Amino acid sequence: MAKLTSVKSLEPPAPTSDPARVIAEEVRTDQLHLLFRQSFFATFGSFVAACILGWLHWNLGGSHNVIHTWLALLGASSLLRLVMFLTYFRTPERLRIPSRWERVYWLTLLLSAGIWGIGALVLMADGELLLQAITMMFTVGMAGSAVSTYSAYRSMTLSAVGLVLLPCTTWLLVQPSLLQRGLALAVLLFSASVVRATRELSVALQNSFRLTHEMALAHRIASHAAQTDVLTGINNRRAFFERAEQLLNYCQRNQRPLCVLAMDLDHFKDINDTHGHQAGDMVLRQVGELLQTSFRSADICGRLGGEEFALLLADTQIESAQEIAEQLRSDLSNLIFELPQGHIQHISASLGVAAADLANDSLQTLLQRADEAMYRAKTSGRNRVVTAAVA
Ligand code: GH3
Ligand code: MG
Ligand code: MG
Repeated sequence: MAKLTSVKSLEPPAPTSDPARVIAEEVRTDQLHLLFRQSFFATFGSFVAACILGWLHWNLGGSHNVIHTWLALLGASSLLRLVMFLTYFRTPERLRIPSRWERVYWLTLLLSAGIWGIGALVLMADGELLLQAITMMFTVGMAGSAVSTYSAYRSMTLSAVGLVLLPCTTWLLVQPSLLQRGLALAVLLFSASVVRATRELSVALQNSFRLTHEMALAHRIASHAAQTDVLTGINNRRAFFERAEQLLNYCQRNQRPLCVLAMDLDHFKDINDTHGHQAGDMVLRQVGELLQTSFRSADICGRLGGEEFALLLADTQIESAQEIAEQLRSDLSNLIFELPQGHIQHISASLGVAAADLANDSLQTLLQRADEAMYRAKTSGRNRVVTAAVA
């Protein structure tokens, strides 16, 4: 147990993290996970679509060199994406975070969408009107699949759609034939509806992620509030009994020694009467802080009411429990509390210590023996530790 001597102010502790920022980061992480899950198979799909388009051009008189080069570049960029996906899925969950993965994803996306769009343009410029229409159909298909693939990130969807569609569409727009320009206009119209759809989709997704995290946070806050003593921040009576029962059962099952301390602050009413109720609250708050910082996480402490506390010491023999109680008594007597109108010094507590009889004790009988020992400490002069006789 740590020894603690402190000078405390009346201010309650400030909250440490901003929940809105935490939730925003969790939403971004969800978006990233969805992006990787949704786009894994789409990478193969886009390469297969390119192979089919290349095959059509090959059979309808397209340049074999252009087709070879395009497919080789697309194959290489797809391979790069595959390596990225495999690395991502093998990375531990806690490291799959936006700051690590978004940039690399962006790079591979721009690369493969750019190769797709420019390759389609070169093929199109090289072919007949029929081939141009077929190529345009493929690029529109690719753009449509980008909407569902990258829906978690609107900016990615728009970039992918733009890179795939714009080179061919722009080229068609400046061609002399009415048919070609009509085709380009139809594609532009389609793009406009894509832009609208992506906005609605990504907003809906983000809202649903945010709601999930807000509900989880609200649940954590509510269950923490239901178990925590508002003033001291330690277990309230109900939570203490729940957890203490579990620890006693564990020690009984595993034959581990268990001790309990019952503690009551001495003449606490005088502190309220002399310095005011607010000062009394501050003393209680700092006693709670001392308990929280002094004990192991396996131990259980709680405020049972007013200025009464109890502590369950896991895996602890009675001799150690007595030493711990003595140390706690001494630490409490060393606390100094600064008040606007002076300070409170030398508060004290009476403590009762009892060892669990694992075969026979219930939580109630164990606490009762510690309580009786504590009252003996009171009647024999206060500011002391009394050990209960073995049951
Ligand atoms: P003893 O040494 O016999 O334990 O004397 P005591 O004055 O500590 O005990 P008593 O039971 O007579 O008084 C306990 C006081 O604790 C009375 C009550 O006003 C005060 N108290 C209980 N809960 C709170 C609280 O949440 N805040 C403050 N400031 N005081 C509290
Ligand atoms: Mg008291
Ligand atoms: Mg009391």
